[in-house]
Amino acid sequence: MISARFASRFVALSVLSAFVVAADAGMPQQKIQAPGWYRFMLGDFEVTALSDGFVDLGTDVLQNVKKEEIARGLARAFLPAGDKVETSVNAYLINTGSELILIDSGAGKLFGPTLGTVVENLKASGYDPAKVDKVLITHMHGDHLGGVLSSDGAIVFPNAQLMPSQPESDYWLSEAQMAKVSKDKQDSFRTAQKLAAPYIASGQWKPFAAGSQIVPGVRAIPGGHTPGHSSYRIESKGRQMIVLGDVIHFGPVQFPRPDISVAFDVDQKAAVAARKQLFASSAKDRTLLAGAHLNFPGLGHIRVQGQGYEWVPAGFAPLHADH
Ligand SMILES: [Zn+2]
Repeated sequence: MISARFASRFVALSVLSAFVVAADAGMPQQKIQAPGWYRFMLGDFEVTALSDGFVDLGTDVLQNVKKEEIARGLARAFLPAGDKVETSVNAYLINTGSELILIDSGAGKLFGPTLGTVVENLKASGYDPAKVDKVLITHMHGDHLGGVLSSDGAIVFPNAQLMPSQPESDYWLSEAQMAKVSKDKQDSFRTAQKLAAPYIASGQWKPFAAGSQIVPGVRAIPGGHTPGHSSYRIESKGRQMIVLGDVIHFGPVQFPRPDISVAFDVDQKAAVAARKQLFASSAKDRTLLAGAHLNFPGLGHIRVQGQGYEWVPAGFAPLHADH
């Protein structure tokens, strides 16, 4: 028979040795990331940035720029050298107090497993896709419109009006426009038409006049990237932000050189003009910016630096009233 004292020592040693074994084995690494949403107040509006994930964008789509300049931009931003940049896809949810408005919907399942998490993150942030009143689309490329249908083709936002600008809707839904572009570019038209069709059939497709006010405090800014591309000015209690959409794709290259366009700008001249105009006014007015392809949550300001601009990302902050 062992004494009680010996037994307790034995237990203590066992616990200790178990601990040593566990320490030797190491804690399994968790291999998961924080939820992809970030929230702040803009006046009385609650804004939630939603991550759709990321896509590797090839730097070969950048136009009129030397490879060395791209390499310098990436190095200056502490990004790995190479011909691809890991690029965020972001959407923004605005609760005005009377309307729940989603700006862009991400890619859905169109572009593989690294994208398609807008709805998951919208739910994780406390909202229900069925409660979204309006989905404003900056433009009808698949990485912005793709999230409106589930992988089996069902409507994801059953009670929302789906709203691109009228010229954007007219362009991508036009067979005549599609016939004018090369075969490889026709895929973008077919994708847009496929995504729009169920919403057109259900009566939820509601294009707005370019540059119009959508609801008080939310106004479209026409211009750039695609024929009906819209950025959105969000304003509450004198505080403003601009949701840029695809006014910019490669921050490290296009902030210092806003004259550089990308191959998938439908009208490269118009895209450059819109970028220059929005950057100049936003730097002057110190406007908060939100970029669909800037590192999540894609929020920050720009300031003039040399001939171009410098991006100053917003830091994490608690949820201040009127922050
Ligand atoms: Zn895009």
